[in-house]
Amino acid sequence: MTRLWPDLMPSNSNAFFAAAPPEAPGILAIDLDQLAANWQALRDYVAPAQCAAVVKADAYGLGADRVIPALAAAGCRVFFVATLAEARQARTLAPQGNILVLDGITPGASEAYTQINAWPVLSSLAEIKEWGQEGVQRGSPAPCALHIDTGLNRLGMSEPDIRALAGDTHLLGRLDIRLVMSHLACADEPDHPKNAKQHDVMRQLRPLLPNAATSLAASDGIMLGPNFHFDLVRPGYALYGGQASKGRPAPVKPVVQSFARVLQVRDLAPGATVGYSASYSAEQPRRIAVIAAGYADGFFRHLSAAAGETGGFVAFSGKRAPVVGRVSMDLITTDVTAFNDPSVVRGDWAEILGPTITLEEMGAAAGTIGYETLTRLGRRFHRVYLERDGDI
Ligand SMILES: *Cc1c(COP(=O)(O)O)cnc(C)c1O
Repeated sequence: MTRLWPDLMPSNSNAFFAAAPPEAPGILAIDLDQLAANWQALRDYVAPAQCAAVVKADAYGLGADRVIPALAAAGCRVFFVATLAEARQARTLAPQGNILVLDGITPGASEAYTQINAWPVLSSLAEIKEWGQEGVQRGSPAPCALHIDTGLNRLGMSEPDIRALAGDTHLLGRLDIRLVMSHLACADEPDHPKNAKQHDVMRQLRPLLPNAATSLAASDGIMLGPNFHFDLVRPGYALYGGQASKGRPAPVKPVVQSFARVLQVRDLAPGATVGYSASYSAEQPRRIAVIAAGYADGFFRHLSAAAGETGGFVAFSGKRAPVVGRVSMDLITTDVTAFNDPSVVRGDWAEILGPTITLEEMGAAAGTIGYETLTRLGRRFHRVYLERDGDI
């Protein structure tokens, strides 16, 4: 019988331990009800603006095949993906949805978009001309979105391109523009002057283009206030429980928890070293739990801790155990000396991410952001999708 550490876990957690096969090295539990509740909370927060969902990169690593239907059932009608392959998958999962492709079109790919009624987000005159030509070929302009650059200098049309398009009625006549959007550079810092600057540029350039819905805010932009909502907001990270904004928490709760098995517990004598490069050595007797998660599971190698350093953590019943030594591909070693009565034993589940360790904390400890942590989590782990009405 597997012993659990259930006391600090959310009430719905116990079932997913029971659902995992005994050989699973780890569990990634995704709460689809909370995901739906997060989308609805954001929808209510931005009303009367509309709320889309960004589901690129396999729904931030959580599984588009489960996430998209759950969001569609919650009422979401607009889905943003990054690539055509993602759009194809989204089309089968949300047959009635509007599916927008943030990367736009690569040369020669237009027809594949119209075949599945995906709307490319066009960022240059070259793309716009190709899309216009596609409209000519199919006999009517095809729906699309335009991306204008307001200062991020990543994708998006420059001001001269916008003015050129605005003056080209022939080209405009070949387009069915449904959305004009831009993207913020510093929205996670509410007081950053760039937010107001980009907002001003949007207000200035937007009227040059035809009447269509307007969108500026992603997760963190939503928290900048109603001024930034325009007609449509595009949250991704916040849907999955992430807190993108520093200082202005989104009205969402965590969706993901991850646990990995303790494979072995061993006692170290003073002077013994742990792991590759012998980077950690015990000054006093230590007890080490070896856990079945490594950098191939999204537990970044940067979470390693040589002697005297602080790296990452796992937790048992809300109590942290620090990583000691190098994180390797499949394994981490953690110091559980402080766990007595009960002590940590083989078969226990270590929290990688959950009620104790947030996405943001894990990201910061690894020198990155929660977004990267989220999109890399647990590809080898057993996945459990929690749903009120379904089997888990
Ligand atoms: C990824 C992305 C989003 C979603 O961003 P989050 O911070 O995850 O909400 C929105 N818009 C664009 C253009 C994006 O690339």
